[in-house]
Amino acid sequence: MTFDLTPEQDQLRDAVRALGRRYGHPYFVAKAKSGQHTTELWAEAGQLGYLGVNIPTEYGGGGGGITELAIVCEELAAAGCPLLLLVVSPAIAATVINRHGTEEQRKRHLPGLADGSQKIVFAITEPEAGSNFHRLGTVARRDGDGWLLSGRKCYISGVDEADHVLVVARTEDTGTGKLKPALFLVPTDVAGLTRSELDMEILSPENQFLLYLDDVRVPADALVGESLDAGLPALFAGLNPERITVAAMGAGTGRYAIERASEYTATRKVWGGRSIGSHQGVSHPLAHAAVQVELARLMIQKAATLYDAGRDLEAGVAGNMAKYAAGEAAALAVDTAVQVLGGAGMTTEYGVATLLGAVRAGRIAPVSREMILNFVAQHVLGQEKSY
Ligand SMILES: Cc1cc2nc3c(=O)[nH]c(=O)nc-3n(C[C@H](O)[C@H](O)[C@H](O)COP(=O)(O)OP(=O)(O)OC[C@H]3O[C@@H](n4cnc5c(N)ncnc54)[C@H](O)[C@@H]3O)c2cc1C
Repeated sequence: MTFDLTPEQDQLRDAVRALGRRYGHPYFVAKAKSGQHTTELWAEAGQLGYLGVNIPTEYGGGGGGITELAIVCEELAAAGCPLLLLVVSPAIAATVINRHGTEEQRKRHLPGLADGSQKIVFAITEPEAGSNFHRLGTVARRDGDGWLLSGRKCYISGVDEADHVLVVARTEDTGTGKLKPALFLVPTDVAGLTRSELDMEILSPENQFLLYLDDVRVPADALVGESLDAGLPALFAGLNPERITVAAMGAGTGRYAIERASEYTATRKVWGGRSIGSHQGVSHPLAHAAVQVELARLMIQKAATLYDAGRDLEAGVAGNMAKYAAGEAAALAVDTAVQVLGGAGMTTEYGVATLLGAVRAGRIAPVSREMILNFVAQHVLGQEKSY
């Protein structure tokens, strides 16, 4: 057992940290407040190869795994730039296309995902289905040699920045008469696809949308994979990378908040000569949050290692646990940071309250803490399913 990164992973961590710090949280906040995107940071991360670390080298990527992508997510977040689109574009979309797409789809999309010139977002959630994806109502019907897609999706992140949406639909299985999932690469400018932006209480340069698909016609090669049978494994292929990278983003955000708070409490003096951090009522909550973040990081490392070793089932358990732990730890760390900074904690200048919405959302999306507890109760503890 080793807890050390390889020299290459260490270098990646240092380089991403340096990039993130060059932009920093004030950049992230300024973009969010002015309704702009983090275009410059994304482009530079792409040029430096950080967005494609998990994409095979023959498609222009770095040839690494989810361990490397988790490092990128964590370090950018630890620098105050938690980029949600890292989770949907390189983690979910690139993994799904690489593992289950056709060779033509790999060639068409992976190089652009690797250098950041393409963004593919992910649309599974629906107003009527929510956490229960078995109730998906977006339907794909054959139309000549192509497909017609109809349905509604909600909370879809980054549609305004992306050139494609990876849409999860269902289609009639002619063999059994049952409905089964199929994934489609849908251009964001295709006729029949419209969107409206949701007002969210999250300070972020990345936005969420309602998507309406009204008889959206896509060609046969928009279907991910060689046949409809690719749908279910393709959908599951995206889940572990999603959970692991979103957990890494949470751990990075937690580190960022604890670092800001520790700097402040070590120097702020309001009772004579001692810093407020000398009082255990201030330092213990911070230390407690630091322990929780570090525990989450260990679980992320375990999940990423298992995933990269091809041990998908074990990675599923560890990835869900990592996501749960990191979501809770990030929310605790940011809330604690706000508290120990006092009034300064609520200002934009000190840059911690700016993350409250994001870390709160991290306990709900992309999979809620309750659905993870359900998963653990059933698959680890052998409990009966109630729903
Ligand atoms: C910031 C943000 C970004 C997002 N980005 C995307 C995106 O890019 N693409 C995408 O497809 N989706 C996205 N989502 C959607 C997200 O994945 C869903 O919000 C999440 O899966 C929960 O679904 P829901 O909101 O419909 O909640 P519901 O399913 O309605 O659940 C509501 C509450 O009930 C609980 N609950 C439901 N069922 C059970 C049960 N059986 N047992 C115990 N508790 C239960 C849930 O845990 C939750 O607390 C995003 C959401 C947010 C907030």
